[in-house]
Amino acid sequence: MTLTCNVIKDLLPLYVEDLLNEDSIVFVEQHLQSCKECRHELELVRQSVILPIETNPAPFITIQKNIQKKKRQIGIFSCLLTLILTLVIGGFLTAPNYLPYQQENVQLNTTENGLVVAQFSDTVANFQVEKQLTKDGLNYIYHITAWNNSWNQLFPSKQRKNTILNPNSEKIKAVYYYPGNDYQDQLIYGDTPYLDGSVTTLPRLVLAYYLVGAFLLMIINGILAIVLRDKKWATIFKHIFLISVSYLLSHLLIKGLSTTSYSAARDFYLICLLTGVLYGGYLLLNQLFSTKKT
Ligand SMILES: [Zn+2]
Repeated sequence: MTLTCNVIKDLLPLYVEDLLNEDSIVFVEQHLQSCKECRHELELVRQSVILPIETNPAPFITIQKNIQKKKRQIGIFSCLLTLILTLVIGGFLTAPNYLPYQQENVQLNTTENGLVVAQFSDTVANFQVEKQLTKDGLNYIYHITAWNNSWNQLFPSKQRKNTILNPNSEKIKAVYYYPGNDYQDQLIYGDTPYLDGSVTTLPRLVLAYYLVGAFLLMIINGILAIVLRDKKWATIFKHIFLISVSYLLSHLLIKGLSTTSYSAARDFYLICLLTGVLYGGYLLLNQLFSTKKT
């Protein structure tokens, strides 16, 4: 390697990056034409300069992708949180507040054709009518219940709420009104009280059974998930465990500590919906944390 070669070697990085003046460029290129060693050196310099430019964008793209992914996850997570809040608040707003029997709330009128029409006032958010056949199989006993809720108090609906109790001209023996909680049903139509005159609508306990079921599932699958934690397929137990926990939490959020319900279907529907949302939220949160680790 000559002295010129040493000078050229110093200049090559600047030459590759196009930072030399014209005279120096001519000087470098002239030497390169005649010197194989420096041409080889030029190749090495080119590679060392170009390589970082080629490889560097990759990590940046991954970081950018990760940031975008996290942003998306945070977006979905806030949506889930909003859903949870909506369900809990919605559940609270539509929780039935059973109305005591008052004539202005529920009026029964008989038409010329013998149809009995029940008319409900605006303070009634919704009502339920159940009928049961008497033991002789000829007549029907009706149970009416009506309730208000916070939603209806905030936004009263002007829709008329009427219903025909016996659209097929069923014979009505008696109509009872159920005033909620532990009060006895009240006879509001019919002249002969059914049986001894006291009928009590019992709250449905179905939610209590579901709660016990969810609790048992939680315990069993929790234990299985711990015992079999090394097995890959055992994650199914972990997920059943988590779904059970979500159900228990949802019950607590919708019903509090109460397990009896006069509107079990509504409560169960709400609890299941919230369970799904909570479980989905957990999966998402889990993913957020696992990407943070890597
Ligand atoms: Zn040279």
